[in-house]
Amino acid sequence: MDNFAEAAKIIKNSSLTIALTGAGVSVESGIPDFRSPTGLWEKYNPAEYAHIDAFRRDPRKIWNMIFELMGMTTSAQPNPAHLALAELEDMGLLHSIITQNIDNLHQRAGSKNVIEFHGNAEYLQCIYCGAQYSPEEFVIGTEPPVCKSCNEILKPSVIFFGETIPYNALLESQKLANTAEAVLVVGTSAVVYPASSIPHIVKSRGGSVIEMNLEQTVLTSSITDVYLQGSAGETLPILVDQLRKSE
Ligand code: NAD
Repeated sequence: MDNFAEAAKIIKNSSLTIALTGAGVSVESGIPDFRSPTGLWEKYNPAEYAHIDAFRRDPRKIWNMIFELMGMTTSAQPNPAHLALAELEDMGLLHSIITQNIDNLHQRAGSKNVIEFHGNAEYLQCIYCGAQYSPEEFVIGTEPPVCKSCNEILKPSVIFFGETIPYNALLESQKLANTAEAVLVVGTSAVVYPASSIPHIVKSRGGSVIEMNLEQTVLTSSITDVYLQGSAGETLPILVDQLRKSE
């Protein structure tokens, strides 16, 4: 049996399958990931840009990165990987997606059960007085938006290193990981904790880990049961085809 057939068999036999996705899923939509050689961290050092303390120290500098990311995410479209995951959900073969991405592309592809583990850019918040604003209240061009009550620079509601995971996302993901019989781990280096613990929880309860990535990760030789190498935009549609044929 080839790896795709084996993955399809696991999914068919699983009473509850979840997916954990990362930045790699959106690379084919034109949004670079962080850790690949052409990724964002080549340009923006995470310690200097992705930690909440860095934002506190120099929010204008961090907004330069945010402006660049916003430009990419607003023009990006879902790619065949997002569409294939939405189709798996439609087919009743995927319960939920837990995504580390903040680009909204799973939802735009039609996925309904999406847990945004690292938040999203839905609103802007003041980390000093707690005020929240809709981005529509500001003209976001080249100047960072400023809090209307305390005049501090606002932060998008995405999770920076050093911040806590949104409570409901964490709780719901842990519940799912403790129930799932299989997890698809797609386009993530699986090194950002606690998202990275999800496949380990599934595996520790006897569930299966199917991994889809361009390259091997820390999971591949440790807990992965089936590894499908390649771009998610190619491998996920092949897997869906395989499952459709066996319906
Ligand atoms: P990462 O950059 O650490 O890892 C990306 C992984 O995807 C790598 O293992 C890489 O080999 C793989 N990959 C790259 N292109 C691929 C493709 N076409 N098909 C399959 N796999 C591919 O990303 P991460 O693990 O998600 O963790 C980084 C953090 O960065 C996350 O917390 C996320 O919030 C954030 N981030 C989000 C976006 C986004 O929303 N699109 C973009 C960049 C970073």
